[in-house]
This record gives sequence, structure tokens and C-alpha cells, in this order.
Amino acid sequence: MRKPIVAGNWKMNLSLADSRALAAGIVDAVADYSGCEIVVAPSAVSLAGVGEVLADSRVRLAAQNMHWAGGGAYTGELSAQMLADVGASWVILGHSERRQFFGESDEGVNHKTHVALQAGLTPIVCVGETLEEREGERTLQKIELQVRAALAGIRAEDAPRVVIAYEPIWAIGTGKTATAVQAQAIHQAIRKLIAEVFDTSVADALRILYGGSVKPANIAELIAQPDLDGALIGGASLKADSFSAIAKIVDEYTA
Ligand code: PEP
Repeated sequence: MRKPIVAGNWKMNLSLADSRALAAGIVDAVADYSGCEIVVAPSAVSLAGVGEVLADSRVRLAAQNMHWAGGGAYTGELSAQMLADVGASWVILGHSERRQFFGESDEGVNHKTHVALQAGLTPIVCVGETLEEREGERTLQKIELQVRAALAGIRAEDAPRVVIAYEPIWAIGTGKTATAVQAQAIHQAIRKLIAEVFDTSVADALRILYGGSVKPANIAELIAQPDLDGALIGGASLKADSFSAIAKIVDEYTA
């Protein structure tokens, strides 16, 4: 019922030429994996060039961030319409690196989520706890705060278009993955929260991704969890073979 998503976040990596080559490799490798949605997020300057490579393929283009304003005096920023103009149909919002290094607030993430939905972009809203918060048993508290804040004021009819990515910060780029049991516990709690904020039909429809050192070697166990609807992948998305190997396992699980 919930189509799984395999999304790659290329972060501040790859030249335009390398981005286009990776996109071409992914397009070829995932052509038959119709059981899942495939999304890649190149750097902003490679969006248009990668968009050309993805045209007529089943791989969707995502931006890694956007501004909430429609336009104006926001030096260095990009609007939702600008992203749509170059072919992006998805956008990652509130990634922990944006929150940590660029001061993104829950309020800002909420604002951007509204704007993305209005612009027809699918937002992937990232939430996650630090190691300190996990060790202090404050994980659920933090996640609940972030999820409630991100979805404030979103209409129930729009909410199923939001994708939430649970990304424990201690697992991002560290090689440490949450165990499938740890991930499922948080995903289940997020789904329960969505049912409280909206209703069970929204909770049943909204997709929740896991992110944090996902690799071909650990995706099978993760995707088998009932509340886990795919993955947001950093490091392993930078090679067509590892990214497509993850997509293959997710696709096979869905079949
Ligand atoms: C990410 O950046 O969202 C991420 C999960 O990175 P990695 O897969 O490298 O941990």
C-alpha cells in the first residue's frame, strides 16, 4: 500500500560531469525496479544537468534544501519554483547537517514543508536524535517535538504527501546503523504520533524512511520492518552499484 522509496543524498559531492555519470549509471541499473520510487538529490548546481539525464527515466530529482520565500532578497538561496523549473519534484528538508551547521529551526522546516507542498514538491522531512539524547533516553521526546513541529498546520489531505526520514544523527556517515529493532521502535512511534495528529488513514499512508549508514549489507533487515518504508542514503548513494543494490533488495522485498 505504501510504495517504498530509495533516496540518495549526494550532499556536497561530485562535479557536474561525475553527477551526470552517476545519474546515468543509476538510471540503467534501476530501470526494472518498479516496486519502489527512486530519488536522487545532487548538489544544487548539478540539478539541471542531472535532470536532463533523468528525463524519461523512473528516477526522480530532489533538491537537498530550499528557501521558503517565493523570491526576493535572500542571497544564495533557491525557491521552490526555481527547483521545480529545473525538474526537481522532491526536496529534502531539515537534514541534520542543515540543522547542525546552518541553524535550521523546527519552525523553518515547518515553513518550508508548507511551501514545498504548495509548489507540488514532495518533501522528505528529516528528524533524528543525537547520541547524547539517545543515551539520555530522550529519543522519543526529541522525535515527537520535531515531527509535531514539522507538520504543524499541514492539512490532513496534504499530509500523506509528506515523507518523514528518521535519521539518528549518531548513525549518519559513521558506519553505525540503528539495529532493525531500534529503527522499527522509532518508526512505529512516529506512525502512532501521525495517527494522533491526523488520523489512522494518514498514518497508514505516510511513508517513513530510515537513514544512517544504510548499505546493501543492512537494508534487507531494515526494510523487513513493518513501519519502515525505504531509506535515505548518503555515502552508499555515491556509487551506482551500491545504490542500485539497495534498490534491488527493496524492490525484491516489495514484490
Ligand atoms: C544522510 O546523509 O542522510 C545519510 C543517511 O548519510 P549516510 O548514509 O552516509 O549515513
